[in-house]
Amino acid sequence: MIGELAVREALMRWLDARTDPVVDQLFLKGFEYQGQRIAIAGQQGIMKPRSLQAAISIRTAYTEPTQTPPYADSVGADGLQRYKYRGDDPNHYDNRALRRAFQDRLPIVWFVGVARGRYEPIYPVYVIADDPANLEFTLAVDEGQRHLGTGDLSVDARAYALRLTKQRLHQPIFRRQVLLAYDGKCSICRLKHLELLDAAHILADGKPNGQPVVPNGISLCKIHHAAFDANLLGIRPDLTLHVRDDVLQETDGWMLAGGIQGVHNTSLEILPRARALRPDTERLEERYAEFLAYT
Ligand SMILES: [Zn+2]
Repeated sequence: MIGELAVREALMRWLDARTDPVVDQLFLKGFEYQGQRIAIAGQQGIMKPRSLQAAISIRTAYTEPTQTPPYADSVGADGLQRYKYRGDDPNHYDNRALRRAFQDRLPIVWFVGVARGRYEPIYPVYVIADDPANLEFTLAVDEGQRHLGTGDLSVDARAYALRLTKQRLHQPIFRRQVLLAYDGKCSICRLKHLELLDAAHILADGKPNGQPVVPNGISLCKIHHAAFDANLLGIRPDLTLHVRDDVLQETDGWMLAGGIQGVHNTSLEILPRARALRPDTERLEERYAEFLAYT
């Protein structure tokens, strides 16, 4: 008999130790625990290994960049993430397995598709409510959400829950997708140290078209991200760079000269191969108008 909690802790330690931040199909086939092979994700949705009583993971397939991923529009009014049942039978084998994880307060791993066949693991995730009427579970993607309760939360609690959902789920997935699309490099200067890269929003989160989707993102190093956000430089809709006039007039060290002034009127160096992943022209136009209004 395998300990339900112990095997999950072993899985999470195993995930912590991986060198590639994203995992692929082969990885999902399973891991070795006490001499047994434990499958960690199925072909779809909810996974319960044969040797366990409760689900150990859930999986969301990669969504094409032109479509909204399922997790993006399934946040409840309380700011908490929902996860749909498998099918419409609350007593389907898979739904019962995930309900068991809820009843026994067991952590699970959420494998979210970030490219074809590649997944970002989000963990620990807890099921904190079960809603058969709407055929969905409510998830906590952060410890801070586990004890909030669900449904009728205060305005402050809802805002807190939503902030955590964005921080722990939407932002990491967005970052990973953008960095994968740009081959792990800054679009402006080609710097390729992941720890120095960000996924910059073209239109800020909260704007009507500010969704965390790759065509609203650009992979930028910390310096270029901050320079873009602070309107030191703008990106024209034709993907050339516009450094603000007063910044071009400054005299300073090599970072300003080479890293900022030097990119004026050059084009973005690194772009996604797939056209659908490239910066969206309409979003660039809106953002560039903001930059011009600022200068
Ligand atoms: Zn850069």
